[in-house]
Amino acid sequence: MSYEAHKIRLIMELRKQGITDKRVLGAVERVPRELFVADAMRSEAYENIPLPISQGQTISQPFIVAYMTQALALGERDRVLEIGTGSGYQSAVLAHLCRRVCTIERYRTLLAQAETRFETLKLHNITTRLGDGGKGWPELAPFARIIVTAAAPTMPSALADQLDEDGGIMVVPVGQPGAQTLIRVRRDDAGFHEERLLDVRFVPLVDGMPQGR
Ligand code: SAH
Repeated sequence: MSYEAHKIRLIMELRKQGITDKRVLGAVERVPRELFVADAMRSEAYENIPLPISQGQTISQPFIVAYMTQALALGERDRVLEIGTGSGYQSAVLAHLCRRVCTIERYRTLLAQAETRFETLKLHNITTRLGDGGKGWPELAPFARIIVTAAAPTMPSALADQLDEDGGIMVVPVGQPGAQTLIRVRRDDAGFHEERLLDVRFVPLVDGMPQGR
């Protein structure tokens, strides 16, 4: 089967799994996932499974990418903060649905590869930063939306504080390995409102920077 045929099958599967937002499905359809994985993994690019990238990290299962994107309820004018650029796949999906994606990664090598992919795909509305995403991006805050693609041990309040007070939404996996829940936080003038969405499996959000990479 060609990438195209595999892709169509994947989109159908995502619909069955409850991804009903046509804009989200359209964005998944437009991003060539095969360019975000190692050559040896390309034949599996449109399987609904997570795949390994370098530095022991993973690119999430397409269902999870689509689910988190749908849960963000993105507006075209929104500026989105993403923590954990990884391969850049989630950033690329977001870039089709909002004004600007600001994405932070702690591994230099991963970030450099992701930046090359954004250039190749002419995704010019993604701004990248090497750093510890747990601290957010205070110079650019507040953000209409925040998506965290690594699991925080507890609710990351430094990030929640960078949400727009007027209807900001953050989607974040919280918990220890083996017991993580995807949480949606909404912020309004009354404060923060948390909603548990589903049980998930993410690599951990790690404090600080790695040595020499
Ligand atoms: N969104 C990515 C998923 C990558 S996995 C994709 O679509 O491919 C999670 C990523 O979060 C890893 O690359 C990991 O290095 C990164 N990460 C973990 N802790 C971090 C932190 N404190 N700051 C920035 N990135 C972090």
